[in-house]
Parts: sequence; structure tokens; C-alpha cells
Amino acid sequence: MAKIIAIANQKGGVGKTTTSVNLSASLAANGKRVLLVDLDPQANATMGSGTDKRTIELTVYQVLLGDSAVNDVRVTAIQGQYDLIPASRDLAGAEVEMVELKQRETRLKTALGIVDAEYDYVLIDCPPALNLLTLNGLCAAHTVMIPMQCEYYALEGLSDLVNTIKKVRANFNPTLRIEGLLRTMFDPRNILAQQVSEQLQQHFGDKVYRTIIPRNVRLAEAPGFGKPVLYHDKSSKGAQAYLALAKELCNY
Ligand code: ATP
Ligand code: MG
Repeated sequence: MAKIIAIANQKGGVGKTTTSVNLSASLAANGKRVLLVDLDPQANATMGSGTDKRTIELTVYQVLLGDSAVNDVRVTAIQGQYDLIPASRDLAGAEVEMVELKQRETRLKTALGIVDAEYDYVLIDCPPALNLLTLNGLCAAHTVMIPMQCEYYALEGLSDLVNTIKKVRANFNPTLRIEGLLRTMFDPRNILAQQVSEQLQQHFGDKVYRTIIPRNVRLAEAPGFGKPVLYHDKSSKGAQAYLALAKELCNY
């Protein structure tokens, strides 16, 4: 059975998608069988995996509405060696349409149940909101990975997310736990970043990954080529950091 990890933070632009795509590729490069689920209408993980969101017909939207099975929707991210359940703009409407449906919180969980034996890891790239899509991600997952930038408001947002995780645990998914906190876009010369990083370690102890993702231009460039950074510039600090994260995750 796969380990299913939701990559979530309701704060925008903290590195959720960058982590989803590059950790998928790094785990795959270590011989793991990986499925990446794009659960964000922005479809950045889809584009970053080399699939064009404007031309794709079947996406996670049909899966959530029960119109298609995962088998018919998944594609191979050729440049990443992992499978992808893509998203497109349609997904923005799914929230409203799902309100009418039964078991609307657990539709992704049910859909993934059919394929999870085929994978070692399923990563779910959540949108920057605590909405029904993210809730589907959290209900389907065993654990939550929280990417965050080490800046002042990061800690405030974290308590909202931790409260949401508690509510999901109480109502839908009793064994959900925090996989780890990932420091992203880190600049060691920034004093505030260092201070927030220390506070994080004081509060969350070994829940904070030892691996730190540095700010690295290669990571920002790679999605423009529709590939993970590993296939754009393997020697870059960004690529090496995500390879290290994959190792840390597997040894946990
Ligand atoms: P959203 O909340 O909109 O889904 P996100 O949390 O998924 O955003 P990303 O899209 O991964 O965040 O990253 C936001 C921006 O920062 C992107 O342009 C991305 O290329 C860039 N970025 C992410 N991580 C790094 C990094 N370590 N170094 C440099 N740029 C980065
Ligand atoms: Mg994103």
C-alpha cells in the first residue's frame, strides 16, 4: 500500500507545487513508484510535469465527480518517471458541484483506493486554501507535509493549518498526522529567516526536516521547461536539496 502524503499550506506561493513535482521526481529517481495528484485548479503541478492543462481532457475533476476512474485519467510524466493525475481550470467548479454530492470529503480517498497498491508514494499537491479540495486531499492522506517560508507570518498561518488538521482528524481521518515541516526558499543570510527557523525547531522539534530547500533560480526555471529540476540541472543546489529530502523521507 502506498504512503499518501498531502502537500498543504493554505498560504500561497510557499513552494507546495515545487515540492510536489521535485519530490515526486526525486523519489522516482530513487526507484520508488510515485503518483502525483494535482488538486489545484491553477494546475501548476500538471504544467510543471510537462502536461498541457489547456489540451488535456480527463483530469482529477472527472475523478472527483465520479465520471472517470483514476486508471483512465492518469498520465506518465515522461521527464519525471512518475505518474500524474492532472488538473485543469475546470477543477475550480468542482467545489460547487461537489456540494450536492454524497461523501464529498472522501471522493479522492475512494478513487485512490483502487490504485494505491501500484505505488510506494502518492503525493497530493493541494491548492492554497482550506477548501473542499484541500479537505479531499487531507481525507485521502496518511500524513501532511507542510512547506513553509521562514518569515514572520508563517507561524501564524501554521496554527490555522494545525487546527484544520485537528478537525479533519476528529471528523474524517482519525489517523492523519503531520509528516513534517519543510523550510523552503531559504536564504541563510536573512537574519529573520534564521530566527523563524529556530522557532520552528523549538516548537516542532524533529517534525522539522533536516533538509532545507534553498532559494535557487534553477527551481524557479524548471517549470518553464515542463520538467522537474533534476532533468533541468541535476547539479543545482535545488535539485540536490530535493534529492536529499527524498532520502530523508524514505529513511524516516
Ligand atoms: P500556490 O499557493 O500558488 O499553489 P505554491 O505554494 O505551490 O503556490 P510554488 O508554485 O511551488 O508555490 O512556488 C511559488 C513560486 O516560487 C514559483 O514561481 C516557484 O517557481 C518559486 N519557487 C519555489 N520554490 C523555490 C525555491 N526554492 N527557489 C526559488 N524559487 C522557488
Ligand atoms: Mg501550487
